[in-house]
Amino acid sequence: MKVLNCANCGANLKFNSGDPVTICGFCDSVNILENIKLKIEQPLSSSNDGPPNFIEDLKPRILLPQLSYRAKFRQGEYIGILGKFLISNTEIFFKPGKFNWGDLSDKYMKIVNINNMSIKKLGLATQLTITDINGKEMRIVHSFLDFTNIKLNEVVSEINIRKNNLV
Ligand SMILES: [Zn+2]
Repeated sequence: MKVLNCANCGANLKFNSGDPVTICGFCDSVNILENIKLKIEQPLSSSNDGPPNFIEDLKPRILLPQLSYRAKFRQGEYIGILGKFLISNTEIFFKPGKFNWGDLSDKYMKIVNINNMSIKKLGLATQLTITDINGKEMRIVHSFLDFTNIKLNEVVSEINIRKNNLV
């Protein structure tokens, strides 16, 4: 496997191929794994007049949260994970509080891809369902019993503001 280094502290990052995001085990930074195009330099001796060659490579970038709330991520029917819901300029991410983070790809979404948000009551809790253009769903829960402080209506309007700025 390729070695990638944390964009904040330089420590080796653990990730699985295809992961859009990983968390540095050393400094706890959220690293977005972006595909970048690298130009391959042509050897001087080759007389190549064609277009330059590019290869795709992975590069980590730190997610810079502008807003952060304590919240619960609903996984399946019965599992709730406590952690932080983060909103940056261009993406949202639920960062689990425990060290064994599990699959992070279902906890990350680009704001430009979000096409629906709806809030409903779940007994004493409130749930925000965020859906993207690929049909992926994130369910974020506010519940007084878990001492979450997320304001779901505020999250919806903050995401909408960013989405309108991106379009
Ligand atoms: Zn780090």
